[in-house]
Amino acid sequence: MARSGLITLTEKKIPPPSCQLFLVEHVGRNTMKNDYLLEVSGHPKRKVSKALQDKCISALVTKNVEILWNDAVVIRDNSRVPIKCLKHNSITVRSVYDLARGKYDCWHCATDRQSTVANYKNLTLLSRTSSTALVRCNICTHESTVRLSSLLGSNNVDCEGCRVEKYKSNCEKFNITYNSVFRKNGIVYVNGKCNGCLTTTDYVYSRLSNGKRYVFCNTCSGARHHEAAKQKYFTVLDNNIASSIEIQCKNGHSMSINSSILLGKSNIICKECRTDKYKKALMEKGCTFLRFVNQKVVEFIGTEGEILQSQTILSGKFATKSGNRWKQKTSVYLILNKYNEQIFIKIGTAINPDKRRKELKIAGEATLKILATFETRYEADKLEKFIHKNLDGMRLDQLIASNFLGRIINRKRNGIISPALDGKTEWFDLQDTSLVDKLVKDYLNGINTSSTD
Ligand SMILES: [Zn+2]
Ligand SMILES: [Zn+2]
Ligand SMILES: [Zn+2]
Ligand SMILES: [Zn+2]
Repeated sequence: MARSGLITLTEKKIPPPSCQLFLVEHVGRNTMKNDYLLEVSGHPKRKVSKALQDKCISALVTKNVEILWNDAVVIRDNSRVPIKCLKHNSITVRSVYDLARGKYDCWHCATDRQSTVANYKNLTLLSRTSSTALVRCNICTHESTVRLSSLLGSNNVDCEGCRVEKYKSNCEKFNITYNSVFRKNGIVYVNGKCNGCLTTTDYVYSRLSNGKRYVFCNTCSGARHHEAAKQKYFTVLDNNIASSIEIQCKNGHSMSINSSILLGKSNIICKECRTDKYKKALMEKGCTFLRFVNQKVVEFIGTEGEILQSQTILSGKFATKSGNRWKQKTSVYLILNKYNEQIFIKIGTAINPDKRRKELKIAGEATLKILATFETRYEADKLEKFIHKNLDGMRLDQLIASNFLGRIINRKRNGIISPALDGKTEWFDLQDTSLVDKLVKDYLNGINTSSTD
């Protein structure tokens, strides 16, 4: 836009009083180094006042510049002056008012600073405009255009080339050849080819990048599931569910199982087969399975219709009554102890009564007598209970019993362990054994047995 004629104060914006106007023709607005002389010569000359010059000089005191005051001109009603960066020898024409406020930066100086920042971020600044920069990644040589503001910002510039390198290397860890990356519903997927079976699949990228567990393609993991199931005597029915797999035992029971368990070291137990085993073991003893109380304990109906629990069903070591009493030969014994000129009698049950007598550490003259021996502990307990019940009125005060009992055992009640004298409640104040002998005889002859049930 060429312009001529006298520019008067009234026609145009009023310039500051420190400036004078000269009539020259306007040529153009290019302010770059090579053109400035031409431009300046084509514009009305202006003399900038000493005061404004001083203001500009002090505002730019930190910058290595020279201001060519003699070439000050008016361009578009603005006082402009060529300013020279002494480091780069480059000249720019700038508004005097901008300079007065310190608003000046040499393009090359700015570029140098941006280069330094770029280097710091592992990038090489190739070229730039006033708002964008073309940079090359020092790591992967990938070139990209970035906004200057993000190049100069505090965050690192995300290099797309490096990102792809990362995708590639994470894929390689799982024997996958990287193809492409895409995002769906906020999840990053990587499309790649399994080098094992050559099928192409989309992988959730986070599974490849966190590296917690080896990632197989669907085809390969399916094959692995089949193999693992086979080794554990199962067959895979449905492999399509990602986290759980439908398998079948050799007896045709199906169950769904976690992939990691199927592939794990431990054997898989078919719950139905296991239950069948328990049912069968119980049935052999005339009992009926009810349920698993927990992993070990089974609840069942005994031969007399009673509800019992045991954790030794499969070993066969369970009685049909009173839960965990094992089927072992058990005796009912009598210990006669002479202590302080008095006679005391203990009735108890034990698999090995002599061992039991020694364990009790009785002070005094203790003699042992076996009253009866039974095939199971349960039967022995029944007789013991019968005798205890009939001698109930003659129970020895526990304080007296503690005088000649030596063995302390730890008893656990409500989870609290408390030491106690072993067997101190089973002592009776009897001067001879004839009553006990009679009770045993009655019991074995079937008299009064029902009263103990
Ligand atoms: Zn410079
Ligand atoms: Zn890179
Ligand atoms: Zn595969
Ligand atoms: Zn089964």
